[in-house]
Amino acid sequence: MNEVRVAKDVFHGVQNLSRATDQYINLDHGDPTMYEVYWKQMGDRTTLVLSGWQSISYFSDTKNHCWFLEPSFANAVTKLHNLVGNAQTRSYHIVVGTGSTQLFQAALYALCPSNAPEPMSIVSAAPFYSSYPLIIDCLKSGLYKWKGDASKFNKGEPYIELVTSPNNPDGSIRQAVVNGSGGILVHDLAYYWPQYTPISFQADHDIMLFTVSKSTGHAGIRIGWALVKDKEVAKKMTKFIEISSIGVSKDSQLRAAKILDVIADTYEHTEKFDKVKPFFHYGNNEMARRWRQLRSAVNKGQTFSLPDFPVEKCNFSGQRFGTQPAFAWLKCEKAVNDCESFLRKHKILTRSGTQFGSSKRYVRISLISHKEEYDEFIQRLSLLSSMDT
Ligand code: PMP
Repeated sequence: MNEVRVAKDVFHGVQNLSRATDQYINLDHGDPTMYEVYWKQMGDRTTLVLSGWQSISYFSDTKNHCWFLEPSFANAVTKLHNLVGNAQTRSYHIVVGTGSTQLFQAALYALCPSNAPEPMSIVSAAPFYSSYPLIIDCLKSGLYKWKGDASKFNKGEPYIELVTSPNNPDGSIRQAVVNGSGGILVHDLAYYWPQYTPISFQADHDIMLFTVSKSTGHAGIRIGWALVKDKEVAKKMTKFIEISSIGVSKDSQLRAAKILDVIADTYEHTEKFDKVKPFFHYGNNEMARRWRQLRSAVNKGQTFSLPDFPVEKCNFSGQRFGTQPAFAWLKCEKAVNDCESFLRKHKILTRSGTQFGSSKRYVRISLISHKEEYDEFIQRLSLLSSMDT
């Protein structure tokens, strides 16, 4: 009786699946539209009115080595890090960029000697963020060259290692893997925020990159920042941004400042935010819910598997939880050896493991899209999982 029922359910499931698969679900990009609902709830609290006379000058603060850095944005960044406790700010220099994508290039420009006989090797442990090789080799620079997986790197030459933690795509908490002398580290901490992972220590690396794209969900305002220990490196990074885009949008910095300040306010002035959860608590709950849904879908069969994450105490929230990354690093087991093509056949668009220096058995799936899209994805995945290929 039960078996008949299961068979019927699966049959109806397949029918539903073919109906639902009329449309593609695109979870290839890490577009953080999940956060729209939260910011809508906030109403006008983050509204900023800018008049035509504002943001006229190229300059923001001529006393600062980073002369295009808006002081209100710098203050908001410092305040937020101090509140969350995820990074040291005292005695660091802040450099603002058009997304952390620009800052990453600025860091490479600043760190690579201009007169070296060979381009500097840039490495990152696989699976690495798929944009690194594209950005690094795009202009075929004489300064640097992508050398792939850091764990296979021959330490005999100078290098820069990119350490992404939590890592995009697999969510792992990382440290440098190359143990050579003459190496320089750049820490990409885009996801070191309490909605994604426990804040277990205050990071104090030489160069740390952050972005509003993944911290607040405002990818479209294109603002990132670097915390840089060495003043000369910060100055050179500033030079790169001066040469490549003569600074960074003031309007965007002012918007970002407003949003970061409101986040801090949701903790410091809770009385002003009736019925609206503090920002990181909202994000943490939402990510936890999405990961529960995903694990339950995957556990319906043997077709897929997911990485596990150790549970730790978060010094910010006081809660214990495991990393709940912005992306799922999904593995197709058994018969399915090209996971991206398999899911694409079922109209779920993901990014193949091959783009991250890994195997096509893996795909990266964004978990930070609109709720409706995510729920639809979970339904399709549950059916695929229970059908067992
Ligand atoms: N680093 C990592 C690890 C990322 O995942 C992303 C965004 N996908 C970036 C940098 C780039 O962020 P931004 O939008 O600020 O350029």
